[in-house]
Amino acid sequence: MGGHHHGPGGHHHGGAGGADHLHDADGHEIPVPPPPRRIGDGVLELDTLLGGWERVTAGYLVEGDAPVLVETGSQSSVPLLLAHLEQVGLGPDDLAGVVVTHIHLDHAGGVGDVARAFPKATVYVHPKGARHLADPTKLIDSAARVYGPLLDSLYGRLDPTPAERIHVLEDGETIRVSSNRELTAIDSPGHAKHHVGLHDSESGILFVGDAVGVKLPDAGVLRPSTPPPDFDLHLALTSLRKFAGRKPTGLALAHYGLLSDPLDVLDEADGTLRRWADVAEAAYRNGEDIAAALSTTFAADLDGVPEEHREKLEVMNGVHSNAAGFRRWLTTNDASAASDG
Ligand SMILES: [Zn+2]
Repeated sequence: MGGHHHGPGGHHHGGAGGADHLHDADGHEIPVPPPPRRIGDGVLELDTLLGGWERVTAGYLVEGDAPVLVETGSQSSVPLLLAHLEQVGLGPDDLAGVVVTHIHLDHAGGVGDVARAFPKATVYVHPKGARHLADPTKLIDSAARVYGPLLDSLYGRLDPTPAERIHVLEDGETIRVSSNRELTAIDSPGHAKHHVGLHDSESGILFVGDAVGVKLPDAGVLRPSTPPPDFDLHLALTSLRKFAGRKPTGLALAHYGLLSDPLDVLDEADGTLRRWADVAEAAYRNGEDIAAALSTTFAADLDGVPEEHREKLEVMNGVHSNAAGFRRWLTTNDASAASDG
C-alpha cells in the first residue's frame, strides 16, 4: 500500500457506531471507498463497488508524471471513484488520461462524468468504441435491451464525451505515463469487438478488462465472459495468445483484481473457454437450451461459493448472458457459412 495517506475527505460524516459515508456534490450519500491497494510498482487498484459490492468492479490508477486511469466503472460508481482519486491526492488538473478496455457500461459508463471532472484528461478508446463515447445514444438503447431495469437501478448511463477529448488507440500504440513508463494498447477482440488490453512497461502488469474472463476473489472460479452481441470464440482465443506473447508479470482483471501467475491463468482461460463453447455448441446443435446446458455442466464450479457471492457472479457474468453470446455467435457463423455456399 505504500506510505501514501488515504484519510477521509473534509466532508466525511462518521457516525458513532453507524456506517461511514461521504456525500457527493448533490448531497447524496456515497460509501467511503475502501483504501486503494497497491498491486504493483506505481499501480493502484480502486474498488468501484458496482451495486455496493466489494471486489466486483475494479479501476486502476497508473502513477507517473501523467497519471492514467484504467476503467471508470459504471456511471453509478463515479462519486466513489472521484472520492478515490481525491483520496490519493489527484486534483482536477492532475489526471492526464482515462482509458477504457471496452465500452460496456460497467467499464466506461463513467467516462463522460470523469472527463468533466478532469478537464485535462485525454480519453483513450478502441477505434470501434470511439463514436459511442461521443454519442452514446445507440449504446444506451442496446444496454437498455440487455440490462432492462438494471440499467438505471445498477449501472446508470453514459454521458457524452466531447469528440476533441477522445483519442483512438490503434493496436501497438503507446500512452506515455512518465519518461520511463508507457502503456501499450493491445487490440484484443472476442469478448467485444471494441476491446483493448493495456500493458504497463514499468510493472509488467497487463490490464485485460474482460478478455480473460471473470474471477471474483469471493467466488474463486475463473469463468469466461461471452456476452452478445460481439462475442467471437476464435478472436477471443487469439487475444489470449496475444496476451501470453507479451509475457506479462501479472494480469489485472476488471472483475476482479491482480492474478500473479499470468501464463497459467491464460492457459486456464483458453481451456475453460473451449469447454464452455463445446457445451454451448452441442446444446445448440441438439436444439437444447444453451443456458440450461451451461448451468448443469458447470454448476459444480460453484460448490462451496456462498449464495451472496453467487449473486454478484450472476449479475456480472450470468450464464444467460454467456448463453446468449454463444447463441448469437453460432447463429452468425451458420448464416455466413450458408451464404458462402
Ligand atoms: Zn465487464
